[in-house]
Order: sequence, then structure tokens, then C-alpha cells
Amino acid sequence: MSSQNVRCPVCGCLNKGLALDETHGWMECIKCKTVVQIQPEKYVKKIPVFDMSDTESIVNALARK
Ligand SMILES: [Zn+2]
Repeated sequence: MSSQNVRCPVCGCLNKGLALDETHGWMECIKCKTVVQIQPEKYVKKIPVFDMSDTESIVNALARK
């Protein structure tokens, strides 16, 4: 199990020891109580792997966001 320290994007408070991999990036700020989803690329070093020969799927995936 891993935990991350994440700075709240709303108030800037540092939230320590979050298990974002369990919550799919969701966290509740300890200070302002805002519930936000931290984008995985902001806390995980892994990057998504796309098959570059399949650009249509990539475009569709990006369009859904
Ligand atoms: Zn906050």
C-alpha cells in the first residue's frame, strides 16, 4: 500500500498520507473539506501507455474527458 502527500488545489493545505490508489484519486481536504479528484498523473509516476498505431482510440479517450 502506498500513500501520497497531496496539496489541496482549492486552499493549498497539504493533505498527508492519502491512499489515492484506493480511492481512484479522490480525496477530501482536511482543511476546507472540498472533495476533489487528483489526476493520477499528478501523484503516480506511471504514465499511460498508448499503442501509437491506434490513434483513433487515443483521440476518443481524450474526447471523453
Ligand atoms: Zn482544501
